[in-house]
Amino acid sequence: MTGSLTVVGLGPGNPDQMTTEALAAIAAAEDFFGYFPYIDRLNLRADQRRHASDNREELVRARAALEMAANGGRVCVVSGGDPGVFAMAAAVCEAIDEGPVEWRQIELSVIPGVTAMLAVAARAGAPLGHDFCAISLSNNLKPWPVIEKRLIAAARAGFVMAFYNPVSKARPHQLDEAFDLLRGYLPVAVPVVFGRAAGRPDEAIRIVPLAEAQGGMADMATCVIVGTAETRIIQRGENRPIVYSPRYFRGGSGSDGA
Ligand code: SAH
Repeated sequence: MTGSLTVVGLGPGNPDQMTTEALAAIAAAEDFFGYFPYIDRLNLRADQRRHASDNREELVRARAALEMAANGGRVCVVSGGDPGVFAMAAAVCEAIDEGPVEWRQIELSVIPGVTAMLAVAARAGAPLGHDFCAISLSNNLKPWPVIEKRLIAAARAGFVMAFYNPVSKARPHQLDEAFDLLRGYLPVAVPVVFGRAAGRPDEAIRIVPLAEAQGGMADMATCVIVGTAETRIIQRGENRPIVYSPRYFRGGSGSDGA
């Protein structure tokens, strides 16, 4: 008997930012696979089983979940934020693509969640109000020269950029390299938002011009949003400034890098 596999996005960490669809999917499942901090976030019942694993084991975890679903289990794979953004949904699809033909019979659902860049953008104002892109700065799964090429292309095209996985212990210098590179293509007054642990009790939002942006301002729990020449800052005295990208493109100097 074939079971079901649901890939669920838990949102950025605040229970209020989980969808009711995600909560219902969790209530309906029996076995839970995911990176252990995400599994720890779930309020599971005594009859629900945890299969937590390390972050680097995405494909192994996806295959184990699919195997259990193929044998009739009601299985849930969890990701932080949205499962389709640098997370488990693509790993599950890849495992199905490469796996035994029976896995194609499994009832598969992907439940979206609030991804980190949206949670951070909401705290800062509306930096993603115009065209934007999301780039993972991790070179575990792609070579650094490809990342550099994409950063330059995005800056030249006038996209606001959201950086996921901006730094790690193994990659302490890459965010500084990215900022150095971007300073060659963007005005140095462009606002940069460092959004750490958005939606969690230890949330911290910091806004600096690109000229002052440093890799040390981010950690693994930070999503960095780099504006464009169009992105504006509204100063509000004691209150945190508002950062927004106007919906109307005016095409000021340096705004499209052309
Ligand atoms: N699927 C997740 C992203 C996984 S990649 C999502 O949709 O949000 C992991 C990266 O996401 C982290 O390195 C960090 O850049 C970002 N991130 C995850 N949760 C975050 C949060 N609460 N606040 C800020 N950034 C976060």
